[in-house]
Amino acid sequence: MQLETPVYVCEEELLEKNLKLLEYVQNQSGAKIILALKGFAMYATFDLCAKYLQGCTASGLHEAKLAKEEFCCYNPKAEVHTYSPAFKGSEIEDIAKISDHIVFNSPNQLEKYILKVKEINPAIEISLRVNPEYSASPVDLYNPCGLYSRLGTTLKNFDEALLKQLDGLNFHALCEQDADALEGVLDAFEKKFGKYIHNLKYVNFGGGHHITKKGYDVEKLIWLIKDFKKKYNNIEVYLEPGEAVGWQTGYLEATVLEIIDNGMQIAILDTSAEAHMPDTLAMPYRVDVRGSGEAGEKKYTYRLGGNTCLAGDIMGDYSFDTPLHAGDRIIFEDQIHYTFVKNTTFNGIKLPSLAIKRKDGTLELVKEFSYGDYKGRLS
Ligand SMILES: *Cc1c(COP(=O)(O)O)cnc(C)c1O
Repeated sequence: MQLETPVYVCEEELLEKNLKLLEYVQNQSGAKIILALKGFAMYATFDLCAKYLQGCTASGLHEAKLAKEEFCCYNPKAEVHTYSPAFKGSEIEDIAKISDHIVFNSPNQLEKYILKVKEINPAIEISLRVNPEYSASPVDLYNPCGLYSRLGTTLKNFDEALLKQLDGLNFHALCEQDADALEGVLDAFEKKFGKYIHNLKYVNFGGGHHITKKGYDVEKLIWLIKDFKKKYNNIEVYLEPGEAVGWQTGYLEATVLEIIDNGMQIAILDTSAEAHMPDTLAMPYRVDVRGSGEAGEKKYTYRLGGNTCLAGDIMGDYSFDTPLHAGDRIIFEDQIHYTFVKNTTFNGIKLPSLAIKRKDGTLELVKEFSYGDYKGRLS
């Protein structure tokens, strides 16, 4: 069976493989792992995710609601952690009601909202995001600890008087990085904030741990967590990966609509780099296309382009063993994390459907989009 394109297909078997590895990390290290919805929020898979992960991390009201409605229903003990660079007064009550942990970005935010939040939800745990000022992220756009970062409280801005109100501390300093980078972050974090950890219940190590990537040193991660817990009186440790959950769990399938020649062969597809694979332009990176090679490597080279009017809506140059024709399918690999969570209806082009490939190979369409999704965001 073929699905209509464009469509994201999440492969259950691959997702579960990632979840099982994360479960192994939890079992071996004693850390709790929660899903960062920012990177992966296909809630049709949350029955599966909730079997392995302890909850979700949300970046505000809407993600917190999604976590509560679509994740906690599968695991009543699942936790909702909500962080925002700055909360809005009009949303804070609803956030307090549905969050088990709330993470403030600055001392001022904490002072502003803590009484209200505790009044609404006395059991809520309070944390502050700190900035360990350890900057190793490869790309500025994705570097939470870069110069003038607004994300997290630096030691200079930290106020010891807050400690009696805090249950935990959060940091998030990595992006697609390995356990060695975490070691560096932990070192910086402990040098700056280590003296404050002893009376806390937990430290959240954030996301950006590329745990499910081939070659990631999982045993080192486990060792780092165990060592940290041992040092600080068996303190609870959280990790909140997004990318590592959705990493290499599926693809975006598109169709060639037209081939044109303007100095080179160009294939126009029914998808878009700008609207449907935004990180390929923002990061940027070259997405793998199934069965293709670099330009010139195989016999027939094409520039793959999107079906919007943006000149730069280009996926790149790829070569194939046989010529492409209108109607051919093109499969962009590893397009499940940070894709449909970021999609836009730019130029009115159709949002790709969402589908799941079950373990027995059947393809199940779980969501289709239409003109209404475009019109519904405009007026
Ligand atoms: C983005 C983000 C995450 C998840 O990061 P990944 O790179 O997807 O693992 C976790 N925590 C915070 C605070 C974030 O901003």
